Amino acid sequence: GGGFPQETSRHKGARLLGATAHAPGRQRGRRPRVLFFPSRPSCTEALLAEAAGLRTTARPCPCPLPRVDSSLSRLLRHLLSARRSLEICLFAFSSPQLGRAVQLLHRRGVRVRVVTDAQYMGLPGSQIGLLRHAGIQVRHDQEDGYMHHKFAVVDRRMLITGSLNWTTQAIQNNRENVLVVEDAEYVKPFLDEFERIWEEYNPINYRFFSKDDK
Ligand SMILES: [Zn+2]
Repeated sequence: GGGFPQETSRHKGARLLGATAHAPGRQRGRRPRVLFFPSRPSCTEALLAEAAGLRTTARPCPCPLPRVDSSLSRLLRHLLSARRSLEICLFAFSSPQLGRAVQLLHRRGVRVRVVTDAQYMGLPGSQIGLLRHAGIQVRHDQEDGYMHHKFAVVDRRMLITGSLNWTTQAIQNNRENVLVVEDAEYVKPFLDEFERIWEEYNPINYRFFSKDDK
């Protein structure tokens, strides 16, 4: 059907301002990209070693996986493009490769902040303990509902969002989608939501009462 009223008025507003389709306020990066999972099996050692500044030719990875592009390697590359900041909002995070990438960025001086779900972070294989141990700031919910988001924002410029939890199980076995966009119009609301959650999960805002009344 016809556009929503808000859309109409917004477009009118844009016209009144004499704005074109490439209005200055509407920063656009590269075209959106989509990654589908399961990822084809691939060795990401060289990619991670290179990002860590290690020489990869000296000691190639002995694993039998092909050194090909995959959804996982593309996701890693998008994350490793971070130079200043990385916000991560994930229900489940257990992928060792993605965990290494995030630690690497932290060591590189990128400001990394992680929001996750309290119920999942304690499970075996979770990367959250390792990230915290490395000195990365992590905050979690204290709610009965899940912190079920799965998104990340790179350098306040690139939004990575979709159905994928950063777990080996999901990467290797599940049908999942990840959308990568560099359009400020989409990045901003996710950043705003991250900041809202980050503040809400600040430990000084915790309410200490029992939730074990199930
Ligand atoms: Zn390998």
